[in-house]
Amino acid sequence: MPSQDTVFTFDGYLCDKALHAGADVQMDEALTRIQHQSKLDRDVLVTTKGRYTFDYLIDASGSLAHVGRLRHGDDVRYRPEDQVPTMYAQVQGEVPETFDVFLGSVAPSGYAWIIPKGPNTANVGLGVRAGYLKGNLKEHLKEFCDELGFEILSWGGGWIPMGGPVKTMVDGTTLAVGDAAGLVMPSNGGGISQAIISGCFAAEAILDHLNHGAPLDAYEVRLRASLGRALKNSLRTKNMGYAFFKGDLITEGILRILGPIGGIKRAMECDKPVWLF
Ligand SMILES: Cc1cc2nc3c(=O)[nH]c(=O)nc-3n(C[C@H](O)[C@H](O)[C@H](O)COP(=O)(O)OP(=O)(O)OC[C@H]3O[C@@H](n4cnc5c(N)ncnc54)[C@H](O)[C@@H]3O)c2cc1C
Repeated sequence: MPSQDTVFTFDGYLCDKALHAGADVQMDEALTRIQHQSKLDRDVLVTTKGRYTFDYLIDASGSLAHVGRLRHGDDVRYRPEDQVPTMYAQVQGEVPETFDVFLGSVAPSGYAWIIPKGPNTANVGLGVRAGYLKGNLKEHLKEFCDELGFEILSWGGGWIPMGGPVKTMVDGTTLAVGDAAGLVMPSNGGGISQAIISGCFAAEAILDHLNHGAPLDAYEVRLRASLGRALKNSLRTKNMGYAFFKGDLITEGILRILGPIGGIKRAMECDKPVWLF
């Protein structure tokens, strides 16, 4: 996972590009409500600081998909499913040189990781299917770090949508991108590149709609054509993990079979872990 500094630097870089292109960037302002004005047949975005009308809307509000949720409540066609709570810590100590992944009772239906970040520092994290680890996730992560002799410097965390893409990414003139569209690869929890790609596709679909009258649905068609296969494989692998990685013994047995034939590597890369499935 990228460090907090890298994320802030990259976000700042993107923000600068948007400002140079003429965007108006509002900070510290949350969308709280979507009000439908029936007479004008339009939606108004109500935020903590104001009200906005729009021609097109890109929902990039992350895993909780606020636009879909405010409009459609719990309707699963618009909301990413299987939200996995995740905690990570920046640590120092004698960290390994490799990116290590831990499966089994330490992270039931999920995984723990250690990603070395530099001399004696690492990112250690834990993501577990909601409700599958009793107690507080932060305390479990602290225990894990204590056992490995790491000193915790800072904490972070969030939700990762592991249920695959939402069924409907285009809702009128609203296009869902990134986590809001459920584009995380469920077998490895990565979603940054899909967020960037989908944001780009959404912007291009809107331009095509404006300039050539192309349908906005073309966004979803293009996205599924380019990412659909990997997302499907990845979702299937995650579901197999949920079904089979039950206890430490079974998990170890499966890893001993899949490891030597490259199945784990393929699963992390969102390919089929075994050729048949
Ligand atoms: C602990 C953790 C580790 C991860 N590690 C990796 C990794 O190593 N590699 C990888 O590829 N992916 C990783 N991911 C997933 C990755 O972070 C996401 O897939 C990616 O950030 C999705 O980008 P996004 O723009 O769709 O959403 P986000 O990055 O979540 O951005 C959503 C934005 O919307 C804003 N927002 C939310 N609600 C509102 C509202 N009501 N009003 C206004 N603004 C709002 C938020 O403040 C935020 O700025 C990780 C996720 C977690 C939680």
